Amino acid sequence: MHTLYWFTRDLRLHDNAALLAASKSDMVLCVYVVDPRWFQPGPLQSKAMGDHRWRFLWQSLMALERTLRPLGQRLHIAFGEPESVIPALVQAHGIQRVIRSRQPGTDEARQWQMIKERKPDTLFQQFETLSLFTEGSLPMELGDLPDTFSQFRKLVEKTGERCSERLRIRTLTALPPPPGFPEDNRGSCPPIAEPQHPLRFTGGEEAGLQQLRDFLFVTHAVDTYKETRNALDTWGASSKFSPWLANGSLSVREVADTITEYERSETKNESTYWLWFELLWREYFYWYALKHGVNLFRRDGVQRKRRPATFYGHRFKAWCQGNTEYPLVNAAMNQLRETGYMSNRARQLVASCFVNELELDWRYGAAWFEEQLIDYDVASNYGNWQYLAGVGADPRGLRQFNLEKQAKQYDPLDTFVDRWGGHADQPVGLHTVDAADWPIS
Ligand SMILES: Cc1cc2nc3c(=O)[nH]c(=O)nc-3n(C[C@H](O)[C@H](O)[C@H](O)COP(=O)(O)OP(=O)(O)OC[C@H]3O[C@@H](n4cnc5c(N)ncnc54)[C@H](O)[C@@H]3O)c2cc1C
Repeated sequence: MHTLYWFTRDLRLHDNAALLAASKSDMVLCVYVVDPRWFQPGPLQSKAMGDHRWRFLWQSLMALERTLRPLGQRLHIAFGEPESVIPALVQAHGIQRVIRSRQPGTDEARQWQMIKERKPDTLFQQFETLSLFTEGSLPMELGDLPDTFSQFRKLVEKTGERCSERLRIRTLTALPPPPGFPEDNRGSCPPIAEPQHPLRFTGGEEAGLQQLRDFLFVTHAVDTYKETRNALDTWGASSKFSPWLANGSLSVREVADTITEYERSETKNESTYWLWFELLWREYFYWYALKHGVNLFRRDGVQRKRRPATFYGHRFKAWCQGNTEYPLVNAAMNQLRETGYMSNRARQLVASCFVNELELDWRYGAAWFEEQLIDYDVASNYGNWQYLAGVGADPRGLRQFNLEKQAKQYDPLDTFVDRWGGHADQPVGLHTVDAADWPIS
């Protein structure tokens, strides 16, 4: 059997059921496709891929290539649209089977379908490697996924399991050979921009596993996670696993099992539980995205609730550039632009400001996050935005954070605001609206 293994959001050799399946072949061509459309502005103004995530992704790909080489393998990095690239590779190398990890997102599903239609004689297989549970081991049918996280959590907790069983073969140590070493066109990929700030995120499987060890066994920061997790700007306050989880350099089941291992050998408390609890949020949004498909991206959300919102160009720009009347929001938005990361609390605050104070259509904010975030994940991003916009999984509807109160609680000395330049010289107020700002979508 000749297999094409399409790496997507599973850039690792550990706990990778899809790659394990591919390894049972006579020959494997390992491919990653960089889509040129990621780098062009989409209908909601922003690009799908900004500089920070692109740099992190490239580091992750180079790391993957380094781990594949000792196994006699190479990573074929193609710059092109997957709908064309994959069928062409199938044709050129006599491929009989294409394997990838299952993933949420309508573009991803559409591409997969198109490729299948273009190559009707090829076998196509997907495996679940991005989630804690597989669809078969969830305590409900996907169509019956509860409307709220709490109901979901209760059902999962009843099973007594934190994730599906991890693979027996933890890390692949052997792969069949590739069909020679065909030249790729990786040289056509966009250049990597140097960061303005020295960043602490380095892409790749080894770096992700190291972060897991650091947060638990080295620093024991997990012991106080529940109390610290809302801090705006402290490295050890939260796990920082998200960028590695988002591109699959780190397996979420590996994280869940390591928490359990830590609880057995070191400490078990509310904080260690809470880290898994947060992974369960990620899990919920994963299945939520698969269940709701295109409704994840609708302005009226999965609830089909129409909320008054429009597109004020100047307000949107001020929010993106950290130039609003709200210093805390500005600081967080500057931090995001300059580093690609923002804490969970700050994400909630800037999203609440976007929807409530600035009265903007949430999808534009979500698209800006998509471009900027180093840990962008389609399900978590659009799921959280819908939730905050009151059209998603929150039964209580629209919620508004009191920005002044939040600033007093989380940044009483203005340390965060000062560090990230939150006091704008000439902030853009809410009063200036002209006809040109009227809805563009
Ligand atoms: C508007 C908005 C957009 C977001 N967009 C993304 C996104 O694109 N990608 C992303 O990974 N997270 C997103 N989140 C969730 C959360 O903010 C980040 O996962 C978290 O801040 C990452 O930092 P951490 O790894 O230190 O998190 P920790 O607090 O250490 O949490 C551990 C892990 O749990 C998961 N997690 C924690 N909180 C959430 C949550 N609310 N929803 C889903 N998963 C969660 C993440 O995988 C995270 O790495 C978003 C939240 C909001 C409010």
